[in-house]
Amino acid sequence: MKDLGGPAAQFPLAERARKAWNAEQSLPDFTDTELTFSHLDDRRLRGTRRLFRLMGYPWLTRLMGSLGIKTVNWGLPGAEWLVKNTLYKQFVGGTTLEEAQRAIARLASRGVGSILDYGAEGKETPAGREAAFQECLRATEFAAATPAVIGSVVKLTSLIPFEVLARYNDTTLDFAALPHPDLRTGVQRLEQICQLGRERGCEVYLDAEESWIQHSIDQIAEYLMRRYNREGHVVFTTCQLYRHDRLPYLKAAHLRARQEGYLFALKIVRGAYMVKEGRRAEDRGYPTPIQPNLASTHRDFDAAAAYCLEHREEIACCLASHNERSIVKLLEAMQEAQIPRDHPNIRFSQLLGMSGNLTFNLAEGGYNVSKYMVYGPVREVLPYLVRRAQENTSVTGEAGRELRMLQEECRRRGL
Ligand SMILES: Cc1cc2nc3c(=O)[nH]c(=O)nc-3n(C[C@H](O)[C@H](O)[C@H](O)COP(=O)(O)OP(=O)(O)OC[C@H]3O[C@@H](n4cnc5c(N)ncnc54)[C@H](O)[C@@H]3O)c2cc1C
Repeated sequence: MKDLGGPAAQFPLAERARKAWNAEQSLPDFTDTELTFSHLDDRRLRGTRRLFRLMGYPWLTRLMGSLGIKTVNWGLPGAEWLVKNTLYKQFVGGTTLEEAQRAIARLASRGVGSILDYGAEGKETPAGREAAFQECLRATEFAAATPAVIGSVVKLTSLIPFEVLARYNDTTLDFAALPHPDLRTGVQRLEQICQLGRERGCEVYLDAEESWIQHSIDQIAEYLMRRYNREGHVVFTTCQLYRHDRLPYLKAAHLRARQEGYLFALKIVRGAYMVKEGRRAEDRGYPTPIQPNLASTHRDFDAAAAYCLEHREEIACCLASHNERSIVKLLEAMQEAQIPRDHPNIRFSQLLGMSGNLTFNLAEGGYNVSKYMVYGPVREVLPYLVRRAQENTSVTGEAGRELRMLQEECRRRGL
């Protein structure tokens, strides 16, 4: 069975010893472009800079979003090739698990773990759910057999119809008598995935989704943690701190886990559905679940990270974010409390292709860090790619940071 001590535990001991915590060591330098892009030769560096420059044009990413998907789906000659050699190359690990192995190995060589996420979306048919289930099992098996892969991702809407999760969102679910056949099948499938994770030593990450299905997801996640997180962390749920009710939820869920004697494991994120949430609340005339402003989201996110740090012996927390300030805050708190950098219950994660300055500098500093690695055929991951491109359109703030760093590294290399 694989050691579930977090990504750092998966790498050779000599490497870890070199990076062992040292009170004198300063925090990572996230502006170090030489280290950030050391895996890119000059040609690839120039290509990546070109890609991020192109993504800086909002009209182009909008065009990509509508036309790009259509042309690939129509099978227009060259369309798939074009996507594969641009956005796909940057943000996706490979079309299959076997193909993703190169990207996994590249990350592993720099002390970064991988969490595998099959990128297909929206297969709202029984056959689509069966295929998603089989792929989750395959990814979990693969993660168990590959030392540098710490786990697999499950989006519950790929296994249980969205409308079923929505219908029971206000109900307290009785897991001994689930009220709908699709819920029963979905939960059985999830149990098979988690059982495999527990037996073979790999983690299962449950993504958070829209608020009107999230209570169903939370109940299923807690049920699974109750069953599979007894001896170690197998199931990780997700908490979205852009919701104003999530910090109290996180604390209550932790206390339930403590009372019932299982380990609470979660990734904390800010949240990805803000516009959709606001629009729905307005259309239907109920108060938005989203925080009143960005500052409140930052405040609760940092408070959640601090709470998990304080309770690190009972909570395994993966800080899933590209926000440098939040990461630095947590690193400073760890340093102040003299907590080992590779503490197994404190982890960091970023999406593949984004914020390499955070990932690689954290790994270099000896922290537990991983990449969420989406993989899958070009057609299947297109909506994901369009979202990544749209996130990178802004040339100011966090999103434009990648381009500025690429430019800086090109200058440093004299390119
Ligand atoms: C490894 C990983 C896993 C993820 N898994 C999930 C998941 O399971 N579910 C999910 O929903 N998302 C997930 N995300 C996406 C995540 O929720 C964020 O959308 C994304 O990471 C941007 O937030 P940030 O912390 O990186 O940085 P920042 O760029 O600092 O924060 C941007 C975020 O702040 C929030 N925000 C922006 N403006 C406002 C405002 N006016 N008021 C209130 N809040 C505001 C929004 O959430 C926005 O996405 C994941 C991200 C990563 C890196």
